[in-house]
Amino acid sequence: MSDQRQPQASSLEQILAPALQERQQAHLYRRRRTLHSAQGVQVQVDGVSLTSFCSNDYLGLANHPAIVSAFKKAADEYGVGSGASHLVCGHSAEHHALEEELAAFMGRDRALLFSTGYMANLGTIGALVGKGDAIFEDKLNHASLLDGGLLSGARFQRFLHNDLTDLEKKLSRSDSDRKLIVVDGVFSMDGDLAPMPELAALAQAHNAWLMMDDAHGFGCLGKSGAGTAEHFGLDQSQLPIVMGTLGKGAGSFGAFVAGSEVLIETLIQQARPYIYTTAMPPAVAAATRASLKVIQQEAWRRDHLNQLIGQFRDGARQLGLQLMESPTAIQPVVFGDAATTLSVSEQLQARGFWVGAIRPPTVPRGTSRLRITLSAAHTAEQVAGLLSALEDIVKALPDERGLSDS
Ligand SMILES: *Cc1c(COP(=O)(O)O)cnc(C)c1O
Repeated sequence: MSDQRQPQASSLEQILAPALQERQQAHLYRRRRTLHSAQGVQVQVDGVSLTSFCSNDYLGLANHPAIVSAFKKAADEYGVGSGASHLVCGHSAEHHALEEELAAFMGRDRALLFSTGYMANLGTIGALVGKGDAIFEDKLNHASLLDGGLLSGARFQRFLHNDLTDLEKKLSRSDSDRKLIVVDGVFSMDGDLAPMPELAALAQAHNAWLMMDDAHGFGCLGKSGAGTAEHFGLDQSQLPIVMGTLGKGAGSFGAFVAGSEVLIETLIQQARPYIYTTAMPPAVAAATRASLKVIQQEAWRRDHLNQLIGQFRDGARQLGLQLMESPTAIQPVVFGDAATTLSVSEQLQARGFWVGAIRPPTVPRGTSRLRITLSAAHTAEQVAGLLSALEDIVKALPDERGLSDS
Protein backbone atom coordinates (compact mmCIF):
# COMPACT_ATOMS: atom_id res chain seq x y z
CA MET A 1 0.00 0.00 0.00
CA SER A 2 1.44 3.29 -1.06
CA ASP A 3 1.30 6.24 1.21
CA GLN A 4 -1.47 8.51 -0.06
CA ARG A 5 -0.62 11.28 2.30
CA GLN A 6 1.97 13.24 0.41
CA PRO A 7 4.10 15.00 2.95
CA GLN A 8 3.34 18.70 2.70
CA ALA A 9 6.97 19.39 3.35
CA SER A 10 6.89 23.01 2.36
CA SER A 11 3.52 24.12 3.68
CA LEU A 12 4.88 25.36 6.99
CA GLU A 13 7.49 27.38 5.12
CA GLN A 14 5.02 28.53 2.47
CA ILE A 15 2.71 29.93 5.09
CA LEU A 16 5.36 31.56 7.26
CA ALA A 17 7.73 32.98 4.66
CA PRO A 18 5.62 35.91 3.36
CA ALA A 19 5.36 37.45 6.85
CA LEU A 20 9.12 37.28 7.20
CA GLN A 21 9.55 38.97 3.85
CA GLU A 22 7.14 41.71 4.82
CA ARG A 23 9.08 42.32 8.01
CA GLN A 24 12.28 42.58 6.07
CA GLN A 25 10.82 45.07 3.61
CA ALA A 26 9.51 47.19 6.48
CA HIS A 27 12.99 47.29 8.05
CA LEU A 28 11.58 45.46 11.07
CA TYR A 29 13.52 42.24 10.71
CA ARG A 30 15.52 41.28 13.78
CA ARG A 31 18.90 39.65 13.62
CA ARG A 32 21.11 38.22 16.32
CA ARG A 33 24.77 39.04 16.54
CA THR A 34 27.24 36.63 18.06
CA LEU A 35 29.49 37.72 20.89
CA HIS A 36 32.91 36.14 21.18
CA SER A 37 33.89 37.87 24.39
CA ALA A 38 32.49 38.54 27.83
CA GLN A 39 29.74 41.11 28.09
CA GLY A 40 31.22 44.54 28.62
CA VAL A 41 32.05 47.84 26.99
CA GLN A 42 34.58 46.46 24.50
CA VAL A 43 33.14 43.36 22.84
CA GLN A 44 34.08 41.04 20.00
CA VAL A 45 31.12 40.75 17.66
CA ASP A 46 31.28 38.51 14.63
CA GLY A 47 35.03 39.02 14.48
CA VAL A 48 34.99 42.79 14.96
CA SER A 49 35.80 44.74 18.10
CA LEU A 50 33.04 47.23 18.99
CA THR A 51 32.43 49.69 21.80
CA SER A 52 29.02 48.69 23.09
CA PHE A 53 26.32 51.15 24.09
CA CYS A 54 23.49 48.64 24.07
CA SER A 55 23.73 46.22 26.97
CA ASN A 56 21.77 46.47 30.20
CA ASP A 57 24.92 45.84 32.21
CA TYR A 58 24.53 49.35 33.63
CA LEU A 59 27.06 49.00 36.42
CA GLY A 60 29.61 46.97 34.50
CA LEU A 61 29.19 43.94 36.78
CA ALA A 62 28.57 41.16 34.25
CA ASN A 63 32.28 40.31 34.27
CA HIS A 64 33.33 41.70 37.66
CA PRO A 65 36.21 39.62 39.14
CA ALA A 66 34.69 39.22 42.62
CA ILE A 67 31.39 38.09 41.14
CA VAL A 68 33.03 35.70 38.68
CA SER A 69 35.07 34.24 41.48
CA ALA A 70 32.00 33.71 43.71
CA PHE A 71 30.37 31.94 40.76
CA LYS A 72 33.35 29.60 40.28
CA LYS A 73 33.66 28.84 43.96
CA ALA A 74 29.98 27.95 44.24
CA ALA A 75 30.17 25.82 41.09
CA ASP A 76 32.95 23.82 42.74
CA GLU A 77 30.76 23.27 45.76
CA TYR A 78 27.27 22.92 44.26
CA GLY A 79 27.96 21.85 40.68
CA VAL A 80 26.02 23.30 37.78
CA GLY A 81 22.38 22.28 37.71
CA SER A 82 19.95 22.90 40.58
CA GLY A 83 18.30 19.62 39.65
CA ALA A 84 14.68 20.51 40.42
CA SER A 85 12.21 23.28 41.10
CA HIS A 86 12.36 25.12 44.43
CA LEU A 87 9.38 23.24 45.86
CA VAL A 88 10.69 19.79 44.95
CA CYS A 89 14.36 19.68 45.94
CA GLY A 90 16.13 22.47 44.03
CA HIS A 91 16.09 25.18 46.73
CA SER A 92 19.69 25.50 47.94
CA ALA A 93 21.31 27.41 50.79
CA GLU A 94 22.66 29.91 48.23
CA HIS A 95 19.13 30.66 46.96
CA HIS A 96 17.89 31.00 50.50
CA ALA A 97 20.66 33.32 51.60
CA LEU A 98 20.19 35.47 48.50
CA GLU A 99 16.47 35.82 49.23
CA GLU A 100 17.21 36.94 52.79
CA GLU A 101 19.83 39.42 51.61
CA LEU A 102 17.52 40.81 48.92
CA ALA A 103 14.71 41.29 51.45
CA ALA A 104 17.05 43.19 53.80
CA PHE A 105 18.48 45.27 50.94
CA MET A 106 15.01 46.21 49.71
CA GLY A 107 13.67 46.91 53.20
CA ARG A 108 10.93 44.32 52.77
CA ASP A 109 9.82 41.38 54.96
CA ARG A 110 10.64 38.75 52.38
CA ALA A 111 11.90 38.22 48.85
CA LEU A 112 11.32 35.35 46.43
CA LEU A 113 13.66 34.36 43.60
CA PHE A 114 12.32 33.65 40.14
CA SER A 115 14.35 32.16 37.30
CA THR A 116 13.69 35.17 35.03
CA GLY A 117 12.01 38.54 35.21
CA TYR A 118 9.54 37.54 32.54
CA MET A 119 8.41 34.65 34.72
CA ALA A 120 8.33 36.79 37.87
CA ASN A 121 5.88 39.15 36.19
CA LEU A 122 3.69 36.44 34.73
CA GLY A 123 3.69 34.54 38.01
CA THR A 124 3.05 37.46 40.32
CA ILE A 125 0.24 39.05 38.34
CA GLY A 126 -1.38 35.67 37.73
CA ALA A 127 -1.24 34.81 41.44
CA LEU A 128 -2.75 38.12 42.52
CA VAL A 129 -5.60 38.72 40.09
CA GLY A 130 -7.92 36.69 37.88
CA LYS A 131 -11.42 36.64 36.46
CA GLY A 132 -13.62 39.30 38.04
CA ASP A 133 -10.66 41.44 39.11
CA ALA A 134 -9.21 44.50 37.38
CA ILE A 135 -5.68 45.34 36.32
CA PHE A 136 -4.42 48.77 35.27
CA GLU A 137 -1.19 49.00 33.32
CA ASP A 138 0.79 51.89 31.90
CA LYS A 139 0.71 51.84 28.09
CA LEU A 140 4.50 51.65 27.94
CA ASN A 141 4.87 48.77 30.41
CA HIS A 142 7.29 45.99 29.52
CA ALA A 143 5.92 43.16 27.37
CA SER A 144 6.13 40.69 30.27
CA LEU A 145 3.82 42.86 32.40
CA LEU A 146 1.35 43.25 29.57
CA ASP A 147 1.43 39.51 28.85
CA GLY A 148 0.99 38.77 32.56
CA GLY A 149 -2.03 41.06 32.68
CA LEU A 150 -3.62 39.54 29.60
CA LEU A 151 -3.00 35.97 30.75
CA SER A 152 -4.37 36.60 34.24
CA GLY A 153 -7.95 36.79 32.96
CA ALA A 154 -8.56 39.99 34.96
CA ARG A 155 -10.22 42.94 33.21
CA PHE A 156 -7.22 44.50 31.49
CA GLN A 157 -6.96 48.25 31.07
CA ARG A 158 -4.06 50.35 29.87
CA PHE A 159 -3.75 53.97 30.92
CA LEU A 160 -1.84 56.69 29.05
CA HIS A 161 1.85 56.78 29.87
CA ASN A 162 2.46 58.30 33.33
CA ASP A 163 -0.98 59.92 33.15
CA LEU A 164 -2.44 59.99 36.68
CA THR A 165 -5.66 61.64 35.52
CA ASP A 166 -6.35 58.89 33.03
CA LEU A 167 -5.56 56.23 35.64
CA GLU A 168 -7.77 57.88 38.25
CA LYS A 169 -10.65 58.00 35.78
CA LYS A 170 -10.29 54.29 35.09
CA LEU A 171 -9.94 53.41 38.79
CA SER A 172 -13.07 55.38 39.65
CA ARG A 173 -15.10 53.50 37.09
CA SER A 174 -14.05 50.10 38.40
CA ASP A 175 -16.15 48.25 40.93
CA SER A 176 -13.86 45.23 41.22
CA ASP A 177 -12.87 44.15 44.72
CA ARG A 178 -9.30 43.51 43.63
CA LYS A 179 -7.65 46.27 41.66
CA LEU A 180 -3.98 45.95 40.72
CA ILE A 181 -1.96 48.87 39.31
CA VAL A 182 1.22 47.78 37.54
CA VAL A 183 4.03 50.00 36.25
CA ASP A 184 7.68 49.94 35.30
CA GLY A 185 9.72 51.98 37.81
CA VAL A 186 12.05 52.99 34.96
CA PHE A 187 10.54 52.55 31.49
CA SER A 188 12.76 50.28 29.47
CA MET A 189 12.62 52.00 26.08
CA ASP A 190 12.22 55.62 27.26
CA GLY A 191 14.32 55.70 30.42
CA ASP A 192 11.90 57.91 32.34
CA LEU A 193 10.58 57.17 35.83
CA ALA A 194 7.02 56.43 36.88
CA PRO A 195 5.62 58.98 39.36
CA MET A 196 5.73 56.42 42.16
CA PRO A 197 4.72 58.59 45.17
CA GLU A 198 1.66 59.87 43.31
CA LEU A 199 0.80 56.36 42.15
CA ALA A 200 1.10 55.10 45.72
CA ALA A 201 -1.29 57.81 46.93
CA LEU A 202 -3.73 57.03 44.14
CA ALA A 203 -3.58 53.32 44.92
CA GLN A 204 -4.30 54.02 48.59
CA ALA A 205 -7.20 56.34 47.76
CA HIS A 206 -8.81 53.74 45.51
CA ASN A 207 -8.00 50.73 47.64
CA ALA A 208 -5.90 49.29 44.82
CA TRP A 209 -2.68 47.26 45.03
CA LEU A 210 0.49 48.69 43.50
CA MET A 211 3.18 46.66 41.78
CA MET A 212 6.41 48.08 40.34
CA ASP A 213 8.82 46.34 37.97
CA ASP A 214 12.28 47.74 38.72
CA ALA A 215 14.30 45.92 36.07
CA HIS A 216 16.13 49.12 35.12
CA GLY A 217 16.26 50.84 38.50
CA PHE A 218 17.65 48.03 40.63
CA GLY A 219 21.34 48.62 41.37
CA CYS A 220 21.35 52.02 39.64
CA LEU A 221 18.91 54.23 41.55
CA GLY A 222 18.76 55.06 45.24
CA LYS A 223 21.63 55.91 47.53
CA SER A 224 22.55 52.29 48.22
CA GLY A 225 21.40 50.99 44.83
CA ALA A 226 18.13 49.44 46.03
CA GLY A 227 16.42 51.09 43.09
CA THR A 228 13.37 53.20 42.37
CA ALA A 229 11.65 52.43 45.71
CA GLU A 230 14.69 53.73 47.56
CA HIS A 231 14.99 56.69 45.17
CA PHE A 232 11.47 57.81 46.14
CA GLY A 233 11.70 56.55 49.73
CA LEU A 234 8.68 54.24 49.44
CA ASP A 235 8.29 51.51 52.04
CA GLN A 236 6.39 48.24 51.91
CA SER A 237 3.10 49.78 53.02
CA GLN A 238 3.24 52.40 50.25
CA LEU A 239 4.62 50.11 47.56
CA PRO A 240 3.65 46.57 48.54
CA ILE A 241 4.89 44.66 45.47
CA VAL A 242 8.36 45.27 44.03
CA MET A 243 9.83 43.10 41.31
CA GLY A 244 13.48 43.44 40.33
CA THR A 245 15.65 41.67 37.78
CA LEU A 246 19.17 40.46 38.39
CA GLY A 247 20.37 40.20 34.79
CA LYS A 248 20.73 43.94 34.19
CA GLY A 249 22.30 46.29 36.74
CA ALA A 250 23.27 43.37 38.96
CA GLY A 251 25.16 41.77 36.06
CA SER A 252 23.91 38.28 36.93
CA PHE A 253 20.72 36.43 36.06
CA GLY A 254 17.23 35.87 37.44
CA ALA A 255 14.72 38.03 39.26
CA PHE A 256 12.93 38.53 42.55
CA VAL A 257 9.74 39.83 44.08
CA ALA A 258 9.92 41.55 47.45
CA GLY A 259 7.10 42.31 49.87
CA SER A 260 5.19 41.06 52.87
CA GLU A 261 5.23 37.57 54.33
CA VAL A 262 1.70 36.95 53.06
CA LEU A 263 2.54 38.16 49.56
CA ILE A 264 5.57 35.90 49.28
CA GLU A 265 3.80 32.85 50.73
CA THR A 266 0.95 33.44 48.27
CA LEU A 267 3.42 33.48 45.38
CA ILE A 268 5.09 30.27 46.58
CA GLN A 269 1.67 28.56 46.65
CA GLN A 270 0.14 30.11 43.53
CA ALA A 271 2.64 31.51 41.04
CA ARG A 272 2.77 28.87 38.31
CA PRO A 273 5.99 30.15 36.68
CA TYR A 274 7.56 29.84 40.12
CA ILE A 275 6.25 26.38 40.89
CA TYR A 276 6.67 24.66 37.53
CA THR A 277 10.22 25.52 36.61
CA THR A 278 13.74 24.51 37.54
CA ALA A 279 15.46 26.68 40.12
CA MET A 280 18.35 28.79 38.79
CA PRO A 281 21.77 27.19 39.33
CA PRO A 282 22.96 27.75 42.94
CA ALA A 283 26.19 29.25 41.57
CA VAL A 284 24.16 31.97 39.88
CA ALA A 285 22.58 32.79 43.24
CA ALA A 286 26.05 32.86 44.83
CA ALA A 287 27.31 35.20 42.11
CA THR A 288 24.32 37.46 42.68
CA ARG A 289 25.09 37.58 46.42
CA ALA A 290 28.56 38.85 45.55
CA SER A 291 26.98 41.35 43.17
CA LEU A 292 24.72 42.68 45.94
CA LYS A 293 27.83 43.43 47.98
CA VAL A 294 29.53 45.22 45.09
CA ILE A 295 26.36 47.25 44.40
CA GLN A 296 26.36 48.50 47.98
CA GLN A 297 30.12 48.90 48.44
CA GLU A 298 31.09 50.46 45.12
CA ALA A 299 28.85 53.52 45.16
CA TRP A 300 31.34 55.16 42.79
CA ARG A 301 29.77 53.11 40.00
CA ARG A 302 26.47 54.98 40.39
CA ASP A 303 28.28 58.32 40.70
CA HIS A 304 30.33 57.71 37.56
CA LEU A 305 27.27 56.48 35.66
CA ASN A 306 25.41 59.66 36.61
CA GLN A 307 28.32 61.77 35.41
CA LEU A 308 28.27 59.99 32.05
CA ILE A 309 24.51 60.47 31.79
CA GLY A 310 24.99 64.22 32.32
CA GLN A 311 27.85 64.33 29.82
CA PHE A 312 25.84 62.49 27.18
CA ARG A 313 22.74 64.63 27.61
CA ASP A 314 24.67 67.90 27.51
CA GLY A 315 26.58 66.82 24.42
CA ALA A 316 23.50 65.49 22.64
CA ARG A 317 21.59 68.70 23.38
CA GLN A 318 24.40 70.74 21.87
CA LEU A 319 24.14 68.63 18.73
CA GLY A 320 20.39 69.25 18.69
CA LEU A 321 19.54 65.54 19.01
CA GLN A 322 16.02 64.60 20.04
CA LEU A 323 16.38 63.26 23.59
CA MET A 324 13.72 61.95 25.94
CA GLU A 325 12.99 62.97 29.55
CA SER A 326 15.34 60.36 30.95
CA PRO A 327 17.51 60.79 34.03
CA THR A 328 18.71 57.17 33.76
CA ALA A 329 21.27 55.05 31.91
CA ILE A 330 18.74 54.54 29.10
CA GLN A 331 19.16 57.45 26.69
CA PRO A 332 17.03 57.02 23.57
CA VAL A 333 17.50 59.20 20.51
CA VAL A 334 14.32 59.21 18.44
CA PHE A 335 14.52 59.21 14.64
CA GLY A 336 10.93 58.23 13.93
CA ASP A 337 11.07 55.89 11.00
CA ALA A 338 12.59 52.43 11.16
CA ALA A 339 14.76 52.78 8.03
CA THR A 340 16.60 55.91 9.24
CA THR A 341 17.10 54.45 12.70
CA LEU A 342 18.53 51.29 11.25
CA SER A 343 20.79 53.22 8.91
CA VAL A 344 22.18 55.39 11.73
CA SER A 345 22.82 52.29 13.80
CA GLU A 346 24.66 50.67 10.86
CA GLN A 347 26.78 53.76 10.31
CA LEU A 348 27.65 53.87 14.00
CA GLN A 349 28.77 50.29 13.72
CA ALA A 350 31.01 51.11 10.81
CA ARG A 351 32.68 53.58 13.17
CA GLY A 352 33.11 50.98 15.88
CA PHE A 353 30.03 51.65 18.04
CA TRP A 354 27.32 49.14 18.80
CA VAL A 355 23.94 50.75 19.49
CA GLY A 356 20.59 49.01 19.18
CA ALA A 357 17.95 50.24 16.73
CA ILE A 358 14.61 49.79 18.50
CA ARG A 359 11.64 49.54 16.18
CA PRO A 360 7.97 48.52 16.33
CA PRO A 361 6.46 46.49 17.87
CA THR A 362 8.85 47.11 20.77
CA VAL A 363 8.05 50.83 20.54
CA PRO A 364 5.01 52.57 18.97
CA ARG A 365 5.02 53.13 15.20
CA GLY A 366 6.78 56.34 14.20
CA THR A 367 8.98 56.41 17.30
CA SER A 368 11.86 54.19 16.18
CA ARG A 369 14.94 55.09 18.11
CA LEU A 370 18.50 54.33 18.99
CA ARG A 371 18.46 52.94 22.49
CA ILE A 372 21.76 54.17 23.84
CA THR A 373 22.61 52.67 27.21
CA LEU A 374 25.40 53.95 29.38
CA SER A 375 27.39 51.89 31.83
CA ALA A 376 29.61 52.65 34.79
CA ALA A 377 32.28 50.80 32.81
CA HIS A 378 32.32 53.43 30.06
CA THR A 379 34.90 56.20 30.12
CA ALA A 380 34.17 59.88 29.42
CA GLU A 381 36.32 59.49 26.27
CA GLN A 382 34.12 56.69 24.96
CA VAL A 383 30.99 58.78 25.46
CA ALA A 384 32.68 61.73 23.70
CA GLY A 385 33.60 59.39 20.84
CA LEU A 386 30.01 58.23 20.47
CA LEU A 387 28.76 61.83 20.44
CA SER A 388 31.24 62.82 17.79
CA ALA A 389 30.28 59.85 15.58
CA LEU A 390 26.59 60.73 16.03
CA GLU A 391 27.33 64.31 15.03
CA ASP A 392 28.93 63.28 11.74
CA ILE A 393 26.20 60.80 10.88
CA VAL A 394 23.21 62.94 11.79
CA LYS A 395 24.50 65.99 9.93
CA ALA A 396 24.70 63.93 6.76
CA LEU A 397 21.06 62.74 7.01
CA PRO A 398 18.97 64.18 4.15
CA ASP A 399 16.36 65.97 6.22
CA GLU A 400 18.19 66.28 9.51
CA ARG A 401 15.92 63.69 11.07
CA GLY A 402 16.71 63.07 14.69
CA LEU A 403 17.35 66.73 15.30
CA SER A 404 14.89 68.52 17.54
CA ASP A 405 13.21 71.70 16.27
CA SER A 406 13.77 73.57 19.52
C1 LIG B 1 14.27 42.78 30.99
C2 LIG B 1 12.97 43.10 31.62
C3 LIG B 1 12.18 42.09 32.17
C4 LIG B 1 12.51 40.64 32.00
O1 LIG B 1 13.53 40.26 32.82
P1 LIG B 1 14.39 38.95 32.42
O2 LIG B 1 15.06 38.57 33.67
O3 LIG B 1 15.30 39.38 31.34
O4 LIG B 1 13.40 37.93 31.96
C5 LIG B 1 11.04 42.46 32.84
N1 LIG B 1 10.67 43.75 32.95
C6 LIG B 1 11.39 44.74 32.40
C7 LIG B 1 10.94 46.16 32.56
C8 LIG B 1 12.56 44.44 31.72
O5 LIG B 1 13.26 45.42 31.15
